[in-house]
Amino acid sequence: MINHLPQQKNRKIPFVSSDDNQSEQSLHPSEHKDEASMVINSDTNKCRTADEVNRQTLVNWQTLLAEVITDLDWLLAKLNISHIKPELYVPEGFSLRVPKGFVAKMQPGNPQDPLLLQVLPSKHEQVAVTGYVPDPLAENNQNPIKGLLHKYHSRVLITVTGACAIHCRYCFRQHFDYQANMPRSEQLTQIQSYISEHPEISEVLLSGGDPLTLSNRRLFLWLQVLEDLPQVQTIRIHTRLPIVIPERLDTALLDRLQQSRCRIVMVLHSNHANEIDAHTKQYLLQARDKGITLLNQTVLLAGINDTLEAQVALSERLFEAGVLPYYLHVLDKVAGAAHFDMPQAQAVDLYWQMLAKLPGYLVPKLVQELPNRPFKTPVDLYR
Ligand code: SF4
Repeated sequence: MINHLPQQKNRKIPFVSSDDNQSEQSLHPSEHKDEASMVINSDTNKCRTADEVNRQTLVNWQTLLAEVITDLDWLLAKLNISHIKPELYVPEGFSLRVPKGFVAKMQPGNPQDPLLLQVLPSKHEQVAVTGYVPDPLAENNQNPIKGLLHKYHSRVLITVTGACAIHCRYCFRQHFDYQANMPRSEQLTQIQSYISEHPEISEVLLSGGDPLTLSNRRLFLWLQVLEDLPQVQTIRIHTRLPIVIPERLDTALLDRLQQSRCRIVMVLHSNHANEIDAHTKQYLLQARDKGITLLNQTVLLAGINDTLEAQVALSERLFEAGVLPYYLHVLDKVAGAAHFDMPQAQAVDLYWQMLAKLPGYLVPKLVQELPNRPFKTPVDLYR
């Protein structure tokens, strides 16, 4: 049955504590003071303090985050595709949002560009399709403590922010009630206590939104809170920032992650080889060289990466950038994203082709996430 969906609610972006009622990108770079070691500028041969270098980098990523494109007409004009406007709409809530650097990776004049299709609000989103629901993983209000999701035996997930640098039109959390599910300062102690009372928890996932939209200062606070718990051995950061604003992997962040007493795993989210250009690759390799384990998860998206060529190119490009393919997700059936879905038989057929074409270590696991299952469910390849 097909109906028209109501307009989405405004997606409010809550913050971790009361002093966070200020946008992350509005933090003045001077708040970020770091070590005073000296760095040689190869152009001028002059010394600059590491603090100056970091400040410059921070201005860069936070400025890029502040300058994301939200104007549909600007985007269409920039890409010279204004004629497709009748097929699009302006959402009230989960708005258009895309960093300029990501737009620069799109092909002008091509309305089917695989990066563009991930961010363009299509009128297809307004069509309600049976089986596609606002909370496909039943996450809302399932938390033992606000912001803490304990779905898997040895891992917990914390939604540290509702903010993202990019709005992916297929996002399974696009209707998520971040207001109701975000930890505030008083929940920090509760989260610490909860983890302490569950000795089986050895790994904590920072998620959102995108945890790397937090300033270094706030992110480092979270790291410290977790590192203070001796049972926590691994901190996992789920993020799309290094793909859409690679400058986010600044020196201060990478140094802090390298110094952590915990193992740091960064699970990136990239869906197409075109997202990883030489500039992005350079930043990812720097992170890899700091000892951070880099994995990638991809969502299988009709018309975007549903061919063997696209999947092979993505796995190979990731590997060149020091990243291993981890998961290939069948689309979560979220309301408004049915046009990105593809029949599961077609996904399985594609996966067999990937197995035949790629070395085993470059084939991600084909999985689907089902509500209330304590693990990701492998897709049955023999049905
Ligand atoms: S970056 Fe991740 S959380 Fe944010 S909109 Fe995209 S898929 Fe959703």
